[in-house]
Amino acid sequence: MNLSRLFIDTAERRPEQVALRPDETTFSYADVAEASARVAGLLVAQGVRPGDRVALMLPNVPPFAAIYYGVLRAGGVVVPMNPLLKGREIAYHLSDSGARLLFAWETAAEEATAGAAGTEAGVVTVTADGFTALLAAQAPAYDVVDRADDDTAVILYTSGTTGRPKGAELTHLNLIRNVEVSLADLLRLTEDDVIFGGLPMFHAFGQTCALNVAMATGASVLLLPRFDARAAADLLARHHATVFAGVPTMYAALLGLAETPELPDLRVCVSGGAALPVEVLRRFEERFGCAVLEGYGLSETSPVASFNRPDQERRPGSIGTPVTGVQMAIVDGAGTPVTTGEVGEIVIRGHNIMKGYWDKPDATADVLSADGWFRTGDMGRIDEDGFFFVVDRKKDLVIRGGFNVYPREIEEVLYEHPDVAEAAVIGIPHSDLGEEIGAAVALRPGSTVTEDELRAHVKAQVAPYKYPRVVWFVDALPKGPTGKILKREIVAPTTEENAR
Ligand code: AMP
Repeated sequence: MNLSRLFIDTAERRPEQVALRPDETTFSYADVAEASARVAGLLVAQGVRPGDRVALMLPNVPPFAAIYYGVLRAGGVVVPMNPLLKGREIAYHLSDSGARLLFAWETAAEEATAGAAGTEAGVVTVTADGFTALLAAQAPAYDVVDRADDDTAVILYTSGTTGRPKGAELTHLNLIRNVEVSLADLLRLTEDDVIFGGLPMFHAFGQTCALNVAMATGASVLLLPRFDARAAADLLARHHATVFAGVPTMYAALLGLAETPELPDLRVCVSGGAALPVEVLRRFEERFGCAVLEGYGLSETSPVASFNRPDQERRPGSIGTPVTGVQMAIVDGAGTPVTTGEVGEIVIRGHNIMKGYWDKPDATADVLSADGWFRTGDMGRIDEDGFFFVVDRKKDLVIRGGFNVYPREIEEVLYEHPDVAEAAVIGIPHSDLGEEIGAAVALRPGSTVTEDELRAHVKAQVAPYKYPRVVWFVDALPKGPTGKILKREIVAPTTEENAR
């Protein structure tokens, strides 16, 4: 078995089909197959052996797919990295994974070279015409190296719940099953589907839901190297996209555009990676007339764990039910399941759970029990019908004067205000209470609402200890590479109490 076979089988069946569509050019499945075979040949010529790590630092451009599948074909382990990483971060990823080579996008070449100095990794710069150059290369083409079920295919670096980034080792079986289940339970793609490829493919969500599922079925992927709502809306309309996969801030950004085209071809939208505020889901469905299915997962779970399925009742605000072959439960601090409706930690078991963190047995033992349950670090609950809800991340919990406040609950109320485009609730240090509730809010264009009005809006709907005493406006909230809001980077205004 080898994850790359999912794609190679498609290429053999439908060589002429369009696989990748960056801007106005297209690359067929045969093109990607040919280019990936060349990459595999080049790697072997460089002495890369099965199991060797090869890092990839590329945005969503055609060479990403060629190199990703090329490394897998040669039996190598792909280590995807964000192309915006800086030298010292690159050095950490390369030395931690022991990568032999780093394929770096041209704009990141300087940082990549600086980062690779002093590590084992050689740097290969990938340019915009890299794909065409690969097709013309003289390197010997190469077939597919078979791998065992539990051989590692990809190492995804993630912060997990704490500490420095750790490499989640995902096996060929983890990823193949995750693709199969996503297709069967959720997406049901055909060759006629056109998928939005704006989620970064170096991240778990984009890797499965924008790249692998498409390549396993023969659908076409619209490549967008960097998310921008205007560009995304135009791309979706121009190429009659049928499937949109995005994180919640992408949904909010599309809704925030002054003008949006109609998107009548959209048949399914999936959201994951962070909580989708119910109000954003409702507005998006109303505006574009397409159901939004929210799901849940982590890098460590390959990533898909649960989803609201298209053939079942959807429950807005819920992450749905576990996908086929996956079990989920809510447990207390001792690992004992709690009763229905009670809040506890979400734990997951199944074919999607990583092998462990690369070279970090202690960190692995902290999250993975001997009987295969993975502790997510997310707090959640189950309702009486078995639907799961994420209450919030354990580490985002704010404790105000001894009372627990889950920011997500307050954010949901803020999003219900028509003038709110984005909101994030955080704990602000407070001399008496320990933490005070603060809310950073980005408003819709033209809004005249005041901080006091927003405070009053929340105060009217939640218990007195929960509403944000400090509300401040920002142009936009800081976001990570996937578009998730980065709470740690939000700077709260200094108040008398938090200055003390
Ligand atoms: P990552 O490993 O970067 O994919 O991040 C995984 C984390 O994203 C999870 O532990 C959750 O905290 C968060 N997450 C993913 N999907 C959802 C969702 N639908 N609702 C709330 N949080 C989510």
